[in-house]
Amino acid sequence: MKIATVLRNDDYTREVELRLKDKLKEAGSMYTFVTGPDEHPDMVLSIGGDGTLLEAVHQYGMQPTYVGIHTGHLGFYADWRPDELDDFVTMLLEQKEPFIAEYPTVQCQITTGDGQVYHKWALNELVVRNASLSTLVACVNINGDELETFRGDGLIVSSPSGSTAYNKAVDGAIVHPSIEAIQLSEIASINNQAYRTINSSLVLPKHHTVELIVMNPEIMIGLDREQGVWKNVRSIICRVGQEKVKFARYKKLTFWSRVRNSFITGSR
Ligand code: NAP
Repeated sequence: MKIATVLRNDDYTREVELRLKDKLKEAGSMYTFVTGPDEHPDMVLSIGGDGTLLEAVHQYGMQPTYVGIHTGHLGFYADWRPDELDDFVTMLLEQKEPFIAEYPTVQCQITTGDGQVYHKWALNELVVRNASLSTLVACVNINGDELETFRGDGLIVSSPSGSTAYNKAVDGAIVHPSIEAIQLSEIASINNQAYRTINSSLVLPKHHTVELIVMNPEIMIGLDREQGVWKNVRSIICRVGQEKVKFARYKKLTFWSRVRNSFITGSR
């Protein structure tokens, strides 16, 4: 079995990776470490935080299964603490069958004024903001029907697992990742006598689309960790992605216990 690692850039994380590799080597295991997507790893270990896992999935895509080891606080994508490496290695050596949790993604089709079409995806979310500090103006269509003209700082289309990230910071709902849905949330919409938006997050099922017809000549698009300025974007259509990201769960840690640990108790 081929394993790749993706690390947060700090000394402690590199030390944890070394310890893990040494433990597996000592055991003379059948696991080999590879260094890039071209070597088609079966499993990718993300060592760091949820941000590191986002980097890993964009580097390695949907094929491998992912395991997260956190070197900071307990995350939504990371299951193991560095002091549990022995338990994790034992599971690998005993070839315990993990439960595979599959998390939906957000699929996006971005069309520019000159007719170019770009296909993108995100595990957490797509974020659209104006490229400058002035207002983003975008018509919002649901399944091709006009809902509203949004004016404000920006819009977020999040996946269920991304619902606990940026989406939560703008009061979006937390959605369990077993629900195949996307969520549209507003960032600081203008609501007054001249302009009106729904001013609530919308959760859309798998067969629905949300289209943003962008009026600004330059916008900022964020897809998980990646962000960039796009010129002359005409439309962005989002739906639930066809492919899911697979996580190998070797121990039971429910989504709701992660929610509690992250936002209520602050410990495990
Ligand atoms: P960052 O700005 O360095 O960190 C953002 C924080 O979000 C980190 O604490 C990260 O956890 C956490 N996070 C990432 N995915 C999460 C998830 N699914 N559920 C709960 N928390 C999550 O950025 P980054 O590390 O590159 O992560 C990119 C993400 O930052 C974006 O996808 C977006 O969701 C989030 N973000 C949030 C806000 C906000 O809340 N106002 C603003 C911008 C971006 P770790 O510390 O474990 O890595």
